[in-house]
Amino acid sequence: MTKSMTNHRHLLDDLTIQDKAIVGGDLCQSLSGESFNVIDPSTGKTHVDITHCGPEDVDLAEKSARRAFEAGAWSRISATERKTTLMRLAGLMRDHAEELALLETLCVGKPINDARNVDIPASCNTLAWFAEAADKVYGEVAPSDDNSLGFVEHEPLGVIGAVVPWNLPLLMTVWKIGPALATGNSVILKPAEQSPLSALRLGQLALEAGIPEGVLNIVPGYGETVGKALGLHPGVDAIGFTGSAEVGKLFLTYSGQSNMKRIWPECGGKSPHIVTRNCKDLKKAAAAVATGIFFNQGQVCNAGSRLLVDRQIKQEFLALVREASSDLIPDDPFLTTTKLGAIVSRPQMERVLSYIEAGRSEGADLVMGGKQVRKDSGGYFVEPTIFDNVSNDMTIARDEIFGPVLATISFDTLDEAIAIANDSIYGLGAGIWTDDLDEALTASKRLHAGTVWINNFDDANVTVPFGGFKQSGFGRDKSLHALSKYTDLKTTWIAK
Ligand code: NAD
Repeated sequence: MTKSMTNHRHLLDDLTIQDKAIVGGDLCQSLSGESFNVIDPSTGKTHVDITHCGPEDVDLAEKSARRAFEAGAWSRISATERKTTLMRLAGLMRDHAEELALLETLCVGKPINDARNVDIPASCNTLAWFAEAADKVYGEVAPSDDNSLGFVEHEPLGVIGAVVPWNLPLLMTVWKIGPALATGNSVILKPAEQSPLSALRLGQLALEAGIPEGVLNIVPGYGETVGKALGLHPGVDAIGFTGSAEVGKLFLTYSGQSNMKRIWPECGGKSPHIVTRNCKDLKKAAAAVATGIFFNQGQVCNAGSRLLVDRQIKQEFLALVREASSDLIPDDPFLTTTKLGAIVSRPQMERVLSYIEAGRSEGADLVMGGKQVRKDSGGYFVEPTIFDNVSNDMTIARDEIFGPVLATISFDTLDEAIAIANDSIYGLGAGIWTDDLDEALTASKRLHAGTVWINNFDDANVTVPFGGFKQSGFGRDKSLHALSKYTDLKTTWIAK
């Protein structure tokens, strides 16, 4: 091991793991006493057992959330007071950033440097941004006559369920709880079963920051039990969901089967990343294509998983993408030099490998990677993988693989590229590299996606909404738009 290559796995020894649910301000075991394993995907070994909640715990959480909401110690205080408390929480997250980063890497196998430099800072900044925004939401006064006054206010909805995935555990959590808490709601959070640790620690920090008991409840457990119980609970007013389209659709049915609660599904993607012959800096584009698909082991909702490249430049461009990916060698995620870590779980790795097999058997050309590696570690590692000569009707071009697999499709005209790009059930993100302004504007108008990136991929911050078209869902996270969705509009008329 060289000096710059430091393994930080030993830091796990000093971590105290919060393994309990948080209901009504108490850290508690589930009523059933059941638990589930959190597995370190870089070794395949169980790291810790976490209490597993069931529908009865969800019911208790709903009652405590409702009680807190009605009592008003959070829902009816001034927005400025909520801001102060949430800022304190953001500060505590920053104080505990190192610990939170280690928990993320432990649960999901992402490189520790990514957890430290991307996930945790973005999570702290997001929470602080929503805290700051809390007292900047204004109502309206209607153009009423002299004898009456009509005004419109944003009221908190009540009890919000937040159901989140494992790929960016803490970030997806604060995308939901930030705006929900800032607007005065009570929250019941269900982290993904693969990655509950940072959320459970966050719950403790929230109590320390002074968020009143019952306002933030956390119920760890499997989706089919806890997630479903939240979805069907008649006392939950709305659910912010991030995850697969398949489960997003289930939440829509849970809503119909129960109380017509609002559901905001933020689901998957199959984002096209277009490179035209008018792109001058192909090297820069190639680096963005590599990062766009391989960052976080390809487990990103808006990963640029379909590379659409002009046939004239395809060979040159693919060589540049391979060069840009050459240092992405799957390795122990606790090494500070690692740029590509483990896939989150054995089932997810097997799913990725089965898609690679489908690509081969349907006739695409495997030009890079394609194998499981580091088997001796016991962990779940897959090489960054590139297919060429993919057609858009192949399984690897249609399904969200959620792994490090790039499908390359050629085109001859921009019209053709846009038609291929839009021929997907998803519409989360889309990118185009071109130095032709007409092409850039045409693509921006015609690409059917919630976000279009021109001459970049993945530029983002909390000030703009993020979400998709079509089966990528219709929720929007981040920005002031996310704040307003956690409120209802209340009109009041006062007569003279
Ligand atoms: P998933 O749909 O399997 O699970 C998401 C959450 O739903 C988890 O908490 C899970 O426990 C719960 N769940 C699973 N089955 C359930 C059921 N039957 N009833 C109720 N709840 C259930 O998704 P995942 O594998 O955790 O995450 C990957 C998916 O998330 C990908 O599709 C990815 O694109 C998507 N994602 C989307 C965004 C976005 O902003 N659009 C961001 C990140 C991830």
